Amino acid sequence: MKINGFAAFRAGADLEPFSFDRRALRSNDVEMEILYCGVCHSDLHQARNDWSDWSPTVYPVVPGHEIVGRVTAVGESVTRHRVGDAVAVGCMVDSCMVCDQCRKGEEIFCRSGMTATYNGSDRVTGDNTYGGYSKQLVVREEFVLSVPDGLDLSRAAPLLCAGITTYSPLRTWNVGPGSRVGVVGLGGLGHMAVKLAVAMGAVVTVISRDEKKRADALALGADELLVSSDEAAMKIKASAFDLIIDTVPVKHDVMPYMSLLDINGTLVMVGQIGALESVASTPLVFGRRRIAGSPIGGIAQTQEMLNFCARKNILPDCELIPMQQINHAFERMERSDVRYRFVIDMASLPANN
Ligand SMILES: [Zn+2]
Ligand SMILES: [Zn+2]
Repeated sequence: MKINGFAAFRAGADLEPFSFDRRALRSNDVEMEILYCGVCHSDLHQARNDWSDWSPTVYPVVPGHEIVGRVTAVGESVTRHRVGDAVAVGCMVDSCMVCDQCRKGEEIFCRSGMTATYNGSDRVTGDNTYGGYSKQLVVREEFVLSVPDGLDLSRAAPLLCAGITTYSPLRTWNVGPGSRVGVVGLGGLGHMAVKLAVAMGAVVTVISRDEKKRADALALGADELLVSSDEAAMKIKASAFDLIIDTVPVKHDVMPYMSLLDINGTLVMVGQIGALESVASTPLVFGRRRIAGSPIGGIAQTQEMLNFCARKNILPDCELIPMQQINHAFERMERSDVRYRFVIDMASLPANN
């Protein structure tokens, strides 16, 4: 059976229809029908080979790593999932499972490298992995998450990347009631950071160059908006944050945020990957402040995040699109013209043939 999906065939090309084979079910595999797939900035970067220096794109590339669907078949040794279950797959589909990091549940840091959901290399066959911009997926059971009852399937998909990418640093830095959290950037990641930090009881401030974001920030549950171009306001907020999550996806100056951190405070980068603008060590040394980075979380933490979101009724704000509008959606995403995440309705793709 050929699986219907969408792929980019070279850098700079639009995505277009692509039919391909999924592997036959191994004994520990789960087969799922994909119902929804979120559209992440990574999808656009990988499709365009923007990361040629550290993650060169293998074409054709089928992006998509925010995947929600239902189990349609399981291998004979599968115990975690049953046909009909609502399930999800995020950015990883495999890892070695035996190194120290995998055994700690930190598969993302697997010593031999986790297998990415797309543009990865299958650990058994070496074949290029194809992601969620398609009708069907086959993944080993340990990397398939359960979607708890009560989470709206049509909105849950972005939790698998944007959600866990912001949940993980909030947990790493022990955010809880009274924590003072800043969020820089109010896109797919930023809006999830606000919702999650608010649900954990933190006092949350959105930090933006744009005064016009105030209503949006407050609507998402933030306590206030700090306009970073307002020097007086920035001065008042000196040393006022325990943690700042920086979700801006492009190269930018992080120095204005350093003085906002309290002693021992951390600025954690989750959006942009690559060179920073120049950084002075002064605020780091005199305040034991840190600049850190954080990726997605491990599988156990991803399940914890899904359960947390179901319990607290947290869902991304999504705009549902048909698969055929993906190229337009990429253009709009580049202009930050989306509140706050596109989700592809896979019912728009014809059945496999
Ligand atoms: Zn992503
Ligand atoms: Zn490992």
